[in-house]
Parts: sequence; C-alpha cells; structure tokens
Amino acid sequence: MKIRISYGTAISMGLIHAKMLAKPITAYFMTYHEGRCRNNCAFCPQARESRADLKKLSRITWPVFELETVTEKVKTGGFARICLQTIDYPDLVSDVLTILETFQPLGLPVSVSITPVEEAVLKRFKELGVDYIGIGLDVASERLYPKIKDSLYSWEDMWRFTEESIEVFGKGKAFVHIIIGLGENDREVIETIQRVYDIGAEVSLFAFTPIKGTRLENLNPPPLERYRKIQIALYLIRKGITHLEDIKFREDGSLISFGVGKEKLREILKDEAFRTYGCPGCNRPYYNERPQREPYNFPFNPGKNYVLEVLDSLGLR
Ligand code: SF4
Repeated sequence: MKIRISYGTAISMGLIHAKMLAKPITAYFMTYHEGRCRNNCAFCPQARESRADLKKLSRITWPVFELETVTEKVKTGGFARICLQTIDYPDLVSDVLTILETFQPLGLPVSVSITPVEEAVLKRFKELGVDYIGIGLDVASERLYPKIKDSLYSWEDMWRFTEESIEVFGKGKAFVHIIIGLGENDREVIETIQRVYDIGAEVSLFAFTPIKGTRLENLNPPPLERYRKIQIALYLIRKGITHLEDIKFREDGSLISFGVGKEKLREILKDEAFRTYGCPGCNRPYYNERPQREPYNFPFNPGKNYVLEVLDSLGLR
C-alpha cells in the first residue's frame, strides 16, 4: 500500500535529502489514491475538476512512498504525533483503517482529517489511536459554501459530523478548518468561529493559497492585516474573553471592534494568537506561506514585541 508524505516530513525521516526550514514536530501524511477526490472544492488541487498537480495539497508537495517503508522511518523521526489528511474516494474508510492499523504499534497519537464518516467508524478510529478529528468545513460562510465546496456533504452535514466527533472524542477534540480569503466577510467568519466554540469544538485557521489548475487559481490570498484581525478575534473567543454579541461590524460585515478596549487588548493579547493553532504538537511549517514572506501562521511564538507591532499596524495600540 502507498501513502503520501509532506515534503518536510519526508526530509525529517531521511526519505528525501534536502535542507529544511523548520522541522515539523508532527509527521504529516495523506492517503494515496490514483485519481482525484470525488468532491470539487474550488481551492483544492485534489478536486474532481482541478487540473493541478496531484502531488499537491495547499502549497505543499506530497511525494508517494510505500506504507511499510514509512512506518519504519517514523520511528527515527522523533515525532510527537501523526496527522493523516485524506481525500474522498469510495474506498477511503478501509484505506484509513489499514493505515491506522499499520501505525498503531508506534504508539503515537493520531489526528485524522476526513469528510463525514459514520459514528461506528469514528469509534474504530479511536480504538486505533486517533484522538483528534479535523473537519474541513473550509468555507466560513453558509452563503458561499455550496458554490465553493461543491461536495457530497452539505453545510449542515459538516456541523452534524463535528458534533458527532465531539461525542466520540470529547470536547475540544474536533478541529474545524476554516480558510480565510474565499469571499466570506468578517462577520460570517466570526459567527462560524463562535458556533464552533459554542458546540465544544476548536478552530484551525488557514489562509487561502491560489494553486495553479484549481478553480480559484486567479483569486488573491487574503491581506495579512485582515488575517491578523481574524486571528485576534479567534484568540479572544477561544479564551472566552469576547463573544460574537460584543463584536462590532460595519454593514458590509467588516469588523470594527473586538468588544474589548484597546488597553485591555494590549494587556491580554499574547503572541500565541499568531502561531499555528491545531492539535498538540502541530506546527505545520509554511503550509500556506512562502518562506521568504511574513507568515500568516507562525510555526513558533513570534514574541511580545510582535503583538505590539500588529496592534500598531491595525491602529489598536
Ligand atoms: S474534500 Fe478535501 S481533498 Fe476533496 S476536493 Fe475538497 S478539500 Fe480537496
């Protein structure tokens, strides 16, 4: 059986010899399938109608290796966690089960990002070492969801699956993925973030990255300034410091204030707000950013001074 590995993970394991910018603490894998995903998400290189290189997910390249070779190499990589991303195809569940069974003797916790599966399958995942589920809602707007996702699973199916995942794995063990920059407005994003936390799940933020050959290849990535605002709002909601009801928006849905005074914001905002947020041990280095540019999500805490810099640039200091 074959499996895809993120380029950085393959270097860490010694499967590819190249220089690495930041060592991943988590080993990132993706199911291998000869063909495309059966869904047609407009931003995704794996999508049914995309013409993009199948080796890609976001801006990362995922070379293919034998599952057996990889399992041997995981032992030497010093990883804290395994993260398995999946694309959707008819035999997906049985492939994921085989992969999990092969990895189980390694004794590492596993996160699986997957399209909705039955509750019994989630329970089997749990028996095989899975402790976190990633849910690709991706689009933070019910209005845009059907157009951008063009998937077998509706907006409500994704929420139902999130709730089922929490029932099986517990509070805080389901990470809903949201991509910023797909045409949604700030109000829609923050309403979605609040809904996620209200049901006991968590949010992982991504920045839209245009990939050649996808339906959205000509759309620009979101401005960094907007992304920072959403990161701040997410941090404040996650910590229970603010709530959707306290946040103010313009008529067009753009954010005006976080519902927290400037002074208080300066005191409470920590640099971890700008760091990759996901399962424990996840740093996803350079997942949606070019190494030469200021990252949307830092793979480490960028420092207290960075918080002041951001608040300055947003006129919030
Ligand atoms: S379901 Fe996932 S892999 Fe499939 S097209 Fe959508 S984002 Fe890509």
